[in-house]
Amino acid sequence: MTEPAKNDVHPAGPGGQAGWRPRTRMVHAGARRSQFGETSEAIFLTQGYVYPDAETAEARFSGAAEGEGFIYSRYANPTVRMFEERMAALEGTEDGFAAASGMAAVSGALMCQLSAGDHLVSSRALFGSCLYIVETLLPRFGVEVTLVDGTDIDAWRAAIRPGTRAVFFEAVSNPTLEIVDIPAVAELAHAAGALVVVDNVFVTPAFSRAIALGADVVVYSATKHVDGQGRCLGGIVLGSRGFIRDRLEPYMKHTGGTLSPFNAWVLLKGLETLPLRCAAQAESAARIAAALDGRPGIARVLYPGLPGHPQHALAARMMSGFGTMISFEIAGGKAGAFRFLDALRLIRISNNLGDAKSLITHPATTTHQRLSEAARAALGITPGLVRLSVGLEDPDDLIADIQSALSAV
Ligand SMILES: *Cc1c(COP(=O)(O)O)cnc(C)c1O
Repeated sequence: MTEPAKNDVHPAGPGGQAGWRPRTRMVHAGARRSQFGETSEAIFLTQGYVYPDAETAEARFSGAAEGEGFIYSRYANPTVRMFEERMAALEGTEDGFAAASGMAAVSGALMCQLSAGDHLVSSRALFGSCLYIVETLLPRFGVEVTLVDGTDIDAWRAAIRPGTRAVFFEAVSNPTLEIVDIPAVAELAHAAGALVVVDNVFVTPAFSRAIALGADVVVYSATKHVDGQGRCLGGIVLGSRGFIRDRLEPYMKHTGGTLSPFNAWVLLKGLETLPLRCAAQAESAARIAAALDGRPGIARVLYPGLPGHPQHALAARMMSGFGTMISFEIAGGKAGAFRFLDALRLIRISNNLGDAKSLITHPATTTHQRLSEAARAALGITPGLVRLSVGLEDPDDLIADIQSALSAV
């Protein structure tokens, strides 16, 4: 690949694209063209790179080479780099590092900065694998972890102390859609010198304001809305150039949780339609939540966009859209929830989310099965609770499917 013409590289970062708005950035940011001038980004399915001479190889390894030189695809790859730069341009961070899955991103973002003796404060309402990392894995390496109710700012205040190196939470929690007040937690964390790491999957990159609100590091499972069509696993960590290059990159490149170039390409193409898909899915979610709210047979509806949601005003400040996820409680406990799920014809039973296809799951017996009954109760994961990921189907068809399944219950 010869050096592309100057206007064929769209640099990442705020201001890097002369004020392009998010939808424009999602189509163009980070794109680079080979000497063939392809319109669609190329898949550089290569492990390594050849050097014109030994001197160039030496210069690349010493970091002294002019411009950008790739060394090995566990470290960096042109297609993966395009994905990282496009994500950084969307989130408004200086840089990003892509990972093989959302969990490779979450574990990397925490493991790269924490050492034995450090203290981490984390919200308790976490995706199961995130909970495993903070509750089981990090303590094995001598990291002290305090778990708090993420919605209780006094609990954060009581837990954060000098020596707290980082705080971690899902900005909107799975599956009960509780909202964490990012500016309030960030103020406490920053006063203690701690870094704010946010798992922002349920907000979606399309609706995120995390960096402007005070987050330092934002992590996504790109498996979800970024792909958006149920194909590839992937993840990304976004933050300052210092954090990404000095802290995260050495950890990721030497432990090997890097993203495959093929998956990076799928995710990169997913970003082109991300804002449109998330807007349509969130609009449908709002209609479905309104249709469910107060309906007989539904004990409660959890959707941050409902004016009656206890954190509706906070959600409106935290995100530029109310998201694509709804949780609701079917009367009749587990039996009622199972009858409802089994009566659905269009919405499919799956624990995945963010897909073009609407997917529904029963958290108590799937994603949160591992927890004790008491732990589930503490998180509000009741036997009748179901979690719906709203897809791209016509919302009237989704509402009709839900209504006919409810009649069957
Ligand atoms: C799915 C998910 C993850 C993990 O992502 P993978 O790509 O499955 O590894 C982490 N956090 C949250 C909130 C998720 O929904």
